[in-house]
Amino acid sequence: PLRTPVSPLSMSASTAEAPVKAEGETFEFQAEVARVMDIIINSLYSDRDVFLRELVSNAADACDKKRFLSITADGEAAAAGEFGIRIKPDREARTLTIEDSGIGMTKTELVENLGRIAQSGTKKFAEALAKGDADLNLIGQFGVGFYSGFLAADKMTVVTKPSQGEDKRQYRWESSAGSSFTVAEDVDGDAIEGSGTRITLHLKEDCEEYLDTVKLKTLLQRYSEFVQFPIELWTEKT
Ligand code: ADP
Ligand code: MG
Repeated sequence: PLRTPVSPLSMSASTAEAPVKAEGETFEFQAEVARVMDIIINSLYSDRDVFLRELVSNAADACDKKRFLSITADGEAAAAGEFGIRIKPDREARTLTIEDSGIGMTKTELVENLGRIAQSGTKKFAEALAKGDADLNLIGQFGVGFYSGFLAADKMTVVTKPSQGEDKRQYRWESSAGSSFTVAEDVDGDAIEGSGTRITLHLKEDCEEYLDTVKLKTLLQRYSEFVQFPIELWTEKT
């Protein structure tokens, strides 16, 4: 599409220098998290496909947790088919979205689980590093977790709506890695039906291969063979 450049004259000095107003609250990543994130990004770039396995496995864990909560007094759980994971590439926006109808996160969980408290994957990784036996070539084989999304994305947006807790509002987490992330109530995004999480990867310029349905299909077959919930891979309208 034709872009109309902004005339330099129309941009006053004060507009140009106005500080960008951060949306919502800004939080610092816990030091251990920031360190592991940094190592993942810098050592796994040759194995960056692993991010899809990690995000799909988190989505499946979330569905599993919600399914567990659905167990009734007589021991009946909802069928796996009532949950789902959707993968949606969007070439125009250069984004890849992984959406689940799992348990979702409250605002507090969002802040703690994605930045303030090292989760099992991050912990194991940091421990192995400390012991000196983290063979960088093998890192991709243990769970490197959520932050591996930054292998393919320069920005990640997580929108989530919890099925538990008092505050069931939808929140948005956003980060471009580095040292901080923001969390805000998501008032203008697409509302999540029921509960769940939608993770949008704003893909790096050289990661457009993750918009390719054939590539995604291959990865999903390789990594997610044992996921018990249905995975839907959306193809783009052409
Ligand atoms: P791990 O899966 O080993 O706990 P991760 O780094 O993969 O570590 O994920 C961190 C945490 O973030 C998870 O433990 C979970 O609490 C939360 N989380 C991540 N993805 C989702 C999701 N799709 N739905 C709900 N919670 C999630
Ligand atoms: Mg995980």
